[in-house]
Formats: sequence, structure tokens, C-alpha cells
Amino acid sequence: MTLTKPISLEDQIKQLALEEGAVLVGICSADSIKEKEASDPNYLLQGAQSVVSIGLNLDDEKIKIYLSKKERDPFVENQDDVYKKLKEIGEKIKLFLEEKGYKAVNCDLNFDYRNRKKNDKNPELIETYIKLIDKEKNNTITDKERAMVERMQKMLDLATPKNPKEQFQEGMVPELSHKCIAVAAGLGRVGWSGNVVTEKYGARVLFNSIVTDAKLTADKQLEKNPCNNCKLCEKACQSGLFSPDETQNITIAGVEETIAKRYSKAYCAAVCGGMIGQNKFKEWSTWSPYRLKDGESLPKDDSINEYVMKLMLECIKEGSVRAKHLLVQMKAIRDGLHNKPKGMYVPTCASCQLVCGPTMKDKKESYKLLKNGGCIELGGKWDPEYCLK
Ligand code: SF4
Ligand code: SF4
Repeated sequence: MTLTKPISLEDQIKQLALEEGAVLVGICSADSIKEKEASDPNYLLQGAQSVVSIGLNLDDEKIKIYLSKKERDPFVENQDDVYKKLKEIGEKIKLFLEEKGYKAVNCDLNFDYRNRKKNDKNPELIETYIKLIDKEKNNTITDKERAMVERMQKMLDLATPKNPKEQFQEGMVPELSHKCIAVAAGLGRVGWSGNVVTEKYGARVLFNSIVTDAKLTADKQLEKNPCNNCKLCEKACQSGLFSPDETQNITIAGVEETIAKRYSKAYCAAVCGGMIGQNKFKEWSTWSPYRLKDGESLPKDDSINEYVMKLMLECIKEGSVRAKHLLVQMKAIRDGLHNKPKGMYVPTCASCQLVCGPTMKDKKESYKLLKNGGCIELGGKWDPEYCLK
């Protein structure tokens, strides 16, 4: 009689993750990542011992169609599906661990900020405001409604954060940094762009994490960083968030990485947030049809924070489709990407991640597609209404 070795808890978790559709799975100890606020798993589960990281890749072909601006929906739908699938797989792992007698938390995915208020009513207030502005433009507003607009205008002014720099630089702390967990669990390493780059899929992977009080054996981190410093991610970024040559050092789970120096997140908020589709490069744009005024570029100093904050308020106050687009994002930040109705919150950029395909050949091709994809124009084929489902 041959005795078969019982399968370990770690292997059972990994097998379950892969059977349910994850393409990458690894484990890290809670201790290895608890030093940093954003990756301390004790925030979600006191007494956390381990974290399981799962990854699922985005579809390469759909990304290429998106980057070349032929179609946007296939990628948007794929991204939606991947977020929802990761949440589902996480739930199965959580239940499995609970059945074994452990505590487990299936994290939220992306936009899962600690300081977001899940009962925040501001998006609804802004929605009402935008509707009234539309009525004002159409001359159908009543006196009572106009008085309401004035009151809301004052509220909006008061709601302006006193310190935009703080808001963009320190204001958003995730419940758990899936990026740190993925690196600590050996699924990838942080590349030049700050995105996690994996050996098999480049940066085209989304992650979820499951925190548990089960003491699991951790996996080894990747010895070699799959990022080859091609810097196409920086060239694919319209906003100017990354320096092309200056570096900064970061440490994740004890591993030091040298990445592109990153400036204020306000740059990404302006471009990836869809308020503008062009800044550094004029021969192509993101999926956003909006532009800064003629000849204007985003400031290259600390005034960027205030500038983008003002831009946001201007968008809301003008009550345009651009304001509605911002509103959709505010709702997505409040509700979480996996919770949103399918198709709501349509990305306009993510080029730094999407250009970083699995091979160098793919990265070069993807960058070429982006660069030659042309511009999305207001009133063009992709009318801005298209941004909103
Ligand atoms: S695009 Fe190139 S430099 Fe940027 S993260 Fe990917 S491999 Fe690294
Ligand atoms: S998402 Fe877009 S704007 Fe933001 S850093 Fe990446 S490329 Fe730049």
C-alpha cells in the first residue's frame, strides 16, 4: 500500500485559487509587510498571520484594441470581469479558511481607501447640483432651484480641501496595498512605473488579497525583477507623473527597488481621472476628449496640486459631461470597483500598466499602437457621452 502525503493547507489554498480561475497565487507572512501603514494587514484583521495574494491577467488582445483606440468596451468589460472574478475567488478562499476554523477577510479591490466614507452622500449632492446647472443652462430652472444652486455652490467652495498637496500626496491610504502583498508573496516585483511586473504577464495583472490568522508558510519573493527598465511606461504617460531619468528608492517587504521618481498624484488624477486627455504629447491622447486651454500644460512644480483641485471644481461647476464623468469616479471610489454596476466607471488611461505586456516585443508593439492611435476629439466618433453608460 502506498501512503500518500497529506496535501498541506498552503497547497490546498493554492489549488483552490487556481481551480477557481486565478493565474497567480502566493502567500506572505503578515510580519513581512506590517511595517508600512498601507500594507499592515492588522488594519483588516487584528492578529493577522498571513496574507494570500491572487492575481488574474487582463486580456492582451482587448488591451491592444483599447490602446489603439479602435474600441474601448471589450477592455472595459474584461477589466470589470477580472475585478469581480478576483473578489469571487477571494470569497471562496475566505470560506475555505473559515471552514478550517480560521478567521479570514476577503479584501475590497482598488479604490478601497481607508478614509473613504461608505455612506458618503456627496456624490448624490453633486449629481443634484449638476442636474440643476443643466436646467440653468436650458433656462428651465425655477427661483427655488436657483437658490438651491447658490447654497450648493457655497458648500462646494467650503468642501475644497485647505491643503491640496496633502490631499493628493497623503490623502488616500488603501485598506491594504495589494501591490505590496503581491510582491511579498513572490508574484512580481515593482517596476519602473511603480506597477507590479510579473514574469509571465508583465504589468497586465490585477490582484486581490485574503488576510487570515492561519500561520501559513510564506513563499519566496522573486529574485530577479522582471522589469527591464525599458521606460516605455514613462513614455506612455501623458500626465508627467514619472520622471524619465530621476529615481527614487522604495522598500517592499525588505526588498529595495529603484523606480522612476514620482511626482504628485495630481498628475494622474488629471489625466487618468479623465479631466484631460493630453498633456505632454500632442500627437496622441488618452480616451478623454478634454484638453487644457490652448497652449496650457500641467504645471511642473508644486502648484500642480492646487491647479488640479481647481480643475476638478471647474469641471463640477460647469455641470458638463466632464462633471458627470468625475461623478461616476467619485461613486466608484465610494462603492469600490468590484461593487459598481457593470460598465460604470470607464477608464480613460492606465497606459503605464497596459503598455507593459508580457514580452519586450509586446511592450514595443503596444507603445506603437498607443502612439499611432491618434486623438479622441470632442464631438468625434467617440462622443463624450460615450464615457457614461
Ligand atoms: S514598461 Fe518597461 S520599464 Fe516600465 S515597468 Fe514595464 S518593463 Fe519596466
Ligand atoms: S494611469 Fe495614465 S496618467 Fe496615470 S500614471 Fe499611468 S499613464 Fe500616467
